[in-house]
Amino acid sequence: MSLRDAQRGLGALLELDIQIDRRRQQIAALDPGTTLAARYKVSKPQADTLRAEANTLAAVQKDAELTLAGIDAKVKAANDKLYSGKVTSPRELEDLQAGIDALGRQKATLEDELLVHMEAAATADTAAKAAELDVAKITRAYRTLKDTNTKREAELLAEIKSMEPMRKPLVAMITDKAILKQYELIRERKGGAGASFMTWDRTCTACGMMVNGTTVNAVTDGLVLATCEHCSRILLPG
Ligand SMILES: [Zn+2]
Repeated sequence: MSLRDAQRGLGALLELDIQIDRRRQQIAALDPGTTLAARYKVSKPQADTLRAEANTLAAVQKDAELTLAGIDAKVKAANDKLYSGKVTSPRELEDLQAGIDALGRQKATLEDELLVHMEAAATADTAAKAAELDVAKITRAYRTLKDTNTKREAELLAEIKSMEPMRKPLVAMITDKAILKQYELIRERKGGAGASFMTWDRTCTACGMMVNGTTVNAVTDGLVLATCEHCSRILLPG
């Protein structure tokens, strides 16, 4: 078997390995969702803080409403007593009326305060809801991304699995096992292509570098096995 035959056999194997490697690279390049995870890490505690603030302000509003309801009850009780006919002493009636007036002033102040509390609680609730919506969007996007990636990875793995048995007959065709061993060794070391085609303009397709004249001759003559002086891969005529 001539070196030329070995080059041809290796070329066929390389074509297949390029297809397999391309799929492996596609798997490695799948977006792991780091950006979304980082956004979640910032947005979630922010949303939690805003929700806690909104809850506090809602509680303040509730307290103000209860206080106001208490005043209303006191006013009602005083009025009931005033008009019950049971209190007849003018002094006592005067005191009752003065008490009702005082409660009325207190109520007016509390109503003003309640309006402020209600506005603050509503604003805080709107802010918390917006932040929670943002977190929900990020979570959804992350899940969609993961689902899509899982599906794509499974597809690519299935393709690789169907391609790998095709290597066997191609490997069998290369009778020069030393060349084959060298190819597999480079493949293992480089984590990818073990050989490379040299283009018509003397470029190594794997590393993109220009091959020097002596190597070019070695590749085209097919008398010795040439390797790229830049990336050390076996160079094959393109
Ligand atoms: Zn190279």
